[in-house]
Amino acid sequence: MRLNFQPLPAHLTEIEARRLVQPAGISIFLLALFLIGDGIYQNMLGNLSGQNSTLYGVIIFVMNVVFYFIILRNPPAFNKFQNLFAVLDGSILGVGLWLVPEKNDLVVYVVLLLIALIFVILWERLAAFVFILVAVGLSILVMLVEQEFALRILWGRVNFVIMALVLVETVSLLMRTMRARIKRLETINEFARKIGTSLEAEQVVNIVNAALQKAITADSYYLGIFEEGQLSLPLFYDDGEYFSNMKLPVDGTLSGWVIEHQQPLLMPDLRQEADLEGVKLVIVGRERTSLSWMGVPMITAHMKGILAVASYRPNAFSHTDMELLENLGQQAALALDNAYHHDQVEKQARLDSLTQVYNHGYFLQLLEQEAEICKASGTGMSLIMLDIDHFKQYNDSYGHLAGDKVLVKITRVIQDHIHPTDHVGRWGGEEFCVLLPDTTGAQAYQIAYRIQQKINQMTLKSSEGLNLHMPTLSQGIAVYPDETDHIIELVDLADQRLYVAKERGRNQIEPSPEYWEKPAAG
Ligand code: GH3
Ligand code: MG
Ligand code: MG
Repeated sequence: MRLNFQPLPAHLTEIEARRLVQPAGISIFLLALFLIGDGIYQNMLGNLSGQNSTLYGVIIFVMNVVFYFIILRNPPAFNKFQNLFAVLDGSILGVGLWLVPEKNDLVVYVVLLLIALIFVILWERLAAFVFILVAVGLSILVMLVEQEFALRILWGRVNFVIMALVLVETVSLLMRTMRARIKRLETINEFARKIGTSLEAEQVVNIVNAALQKAITADSYYLGIFEEGQLSLPLFYDDGEYFSNMKLPVDGTLSGWVIEHQQPLLMPDLRQEADLEGVKLVIVGRERTSLSWMGVPMITAHMKGILAVASYRPNAFSHTDMELLENLGQQAALALDNAYHHDQVEKQARLDSLTQVYNHGYFLQLLEQEAEICKASGTGMSLIMLDIDHFKQYNDSYGHLAGDKVLVKITRVIQDHIHPTDHVGRWGGEEFCVLLPDTTGAQAYQIAYRIQQKINQMTLKSSEGLNLHMPTLSQGIAVYPDETDHIIELVDLADQRLYVAKERGRNQIEPSPEYWEKPAAG
C-alpha cells in the first residue's frame, strides 16, 4: 500500500460534515455520560477509582462539546490545526486512559475509535493515525512509568491500534474514491457544458484537450479523424509536446482496430502480445514506446474517429478511466459532427446553389474585405463584370435546362482562368463578376480575353446529344483604387463598361487594351 498524506481539498459543506460525523458524535456523548454515571455509581459503592471514570467522562464530554459547537461550524477553517488537535486530544485521552478502571477500557477504545473516525471524515487519515498512536502510545508509556505493566493490557492496546488503523484507512479510501468520483463527474459536466456550445471544430478539440489533461494521467493522447484511408490528428500530445497536422496509417494499428470494431479497447500492458487480429504496433511521436493504451471510437453518421490515451507505465489506466474516456469521446464526436455540419451549412450559405460560386451577398462582402487589404497594403485590384449575350433568346431556343448548363459551364471556364486567390460571384441571373486582387487593368483584360476566346471555341452537348453553340459574353473592367476608391462606384463603372461592350456589338471587352496603356487612366 502506498501511503499518501496529501491534505485533501475540503469538499464537505457544513451540513454534509455534520451529517457524516453525527452518529460518532452522539455515540461519544452517550459513552461519556456512561463513564460519568459509572464513576458516580462506583463512588457510591465506595470504590475510589470511580472518580477517575467520572473525570475521564467529563473530559470527553467537554471535548465533544467544543468540537460540536466550534470546530464543526467550519471544519476547513481548522484544517491547519488538525495535527495539533490530534496530538492534543491524543495526549489528554492517552494519559487519562490509565486512570480509568480496566473494566471500562472497551468503552474508552470505542470512544478513541469514534474520534479517529471523525478526524478522517473531516480532514485526513494522517490526523487520525497521529491521534490513535499518540493516545495509545502515551497510555502504554504511562503504564510503564507507573510500573503497572500488564502484558494482557498491552496486547489489547496493540490489537486496538491495528484495528483502528485498518478502519481509518478503509474509511479514508472510501472518502478518496468518493471524491475522485465527484471530481470526474464535475469534469464531465463542465466538459459537456462547454462542448455543447462550441460550433467550431478547433474549439471542440481544445476543450477535449483541456478535459483530458485534467481528468486522466497519461503521457500521450490523441484525437484522430478517419479521412481518406488514414487518421488525421487535429490533436496529438506526446511527452509534454504537441504535434500538429499529423497523419497516421490505420491498417493494423490499435486505432484501426477500435474504429473498425467500433468498440473501446484497453491494453493494460503492451509488452504482452496483443491478442488482436491483424494488429501491429507503430511508434509515433517520441521514440518511446507506450506500455498502456486505451482508445474509444467516435462514430457519428458523418464521421469516424478515435480518442486515445497512452502511458509509458504499464497498467496506468483503470476501467473507470475508460468509462470517462468513453464519455468524453461520445460527446466530442457529437460536437465535432455538429461543427462540421455547421461549417458545411455556413459554406453553402455563401454559395449560389446552381453554379457553386459565391452569391451576390457574399461577393459584396469579399469585395469590401479585399478593398480593406488594398488600402492597408497599398495594392490595387481589378473587377470584371460578365453578362451572357442574348441569353433570353438562347433559353427560348434550347430550353432552360440547356441555359442552366451554360451558366455552370461558364463559371467553370472562369475558374479555370483565375488564381485560387481570385474570387468569382454570381451577380444576378446571367451576370457574373470576377475579383482579381493585385491585378492591373491590362492583366485583367488578358484574363477576360482568354475567357472570351475559350467560350467562343466551346460547344455544349444538349440532353438529346446534339452539339449546341455556346452564347457569347460581354465584359466590363474597372480598377481599384486607380479609377475609383469606392466599392459601389467600382461596380457601377464595370457595369457601365459592360453596357458599352453590349453597345459595341456584344462578345466584346470594354475598355479595349489600348486604354490601359495610356499613362494616366481616366
Ligand atoms: P443581353 O445580351 O442584352 O444581355 O440579352 P439577354 O437576353 O441576355 O438579357 P435579358 O436581361 O433580357 O435576359 C436575361 C435572361 O437570362 C432571362 C432569363 O431567362 C435568363 N436567366 C436568368 N437566370 C437564369 C437561370 O438561372 N437559368 C436560365 N436557364 N436562364 C436564366
Ligand atoms: Mg444578358
Ligand atoms: Mg443581364
